[in-house]
Amino acid sequence: MQECIFCKIINRELPAEIVYEDEQISVFKDINPVAPVHLLLIPKKHISGISDLKEEDAGIMGRIQVLAANLAGEMGLAQDGFRLVCNCGRDAGQLVMHIHYHLLSGRTFKWPPG
Ligand code: 5GP
Ligand code: ZN
Repeated sequence: MQECIFCKIINRELPAEIVYEDEQISVFKDINPVAPVHLLLIPKKHISGISDLKEEDAGIMGRIQVLAANLAGEMGLAQDGFRLVCNCGRDAGQLVMHIHYHLLSGRTFKWPPG
């Protein structure tokens, strides 16, 4: 999608600190981290948000979650814990309309979220 900033990061039209990439997925550091570890995990396919997921997207979204588990393990985050968040829509605080998981770790998070 032409005006999508995450599509532009995937296409190298915008810079980002990419920490993992394969044919279907890109993972990069959030530009405005809210925790010591703050990564964004996205499918390369442009999907606006959870509400727009189709049956055919189940595989890629599952892969992203398994990748989050693997990255958390490699980075030593699993013992103390981490949070995997996907905001959907205005009230949830979604600002970028390209589906993404936030992988947050390195501090204690409150529940319920603000
Ligand atoms: P949302 O509020 O949509 O769930 O999260 C969007 C996230 O994308 C925010 O945490 C924000 O800091 C991050 N973000 C917005 N623009 C950019 C950018 O150009 N580069 C990177 N790396 N992160 C971005
Ligand atoms: Zn996009």
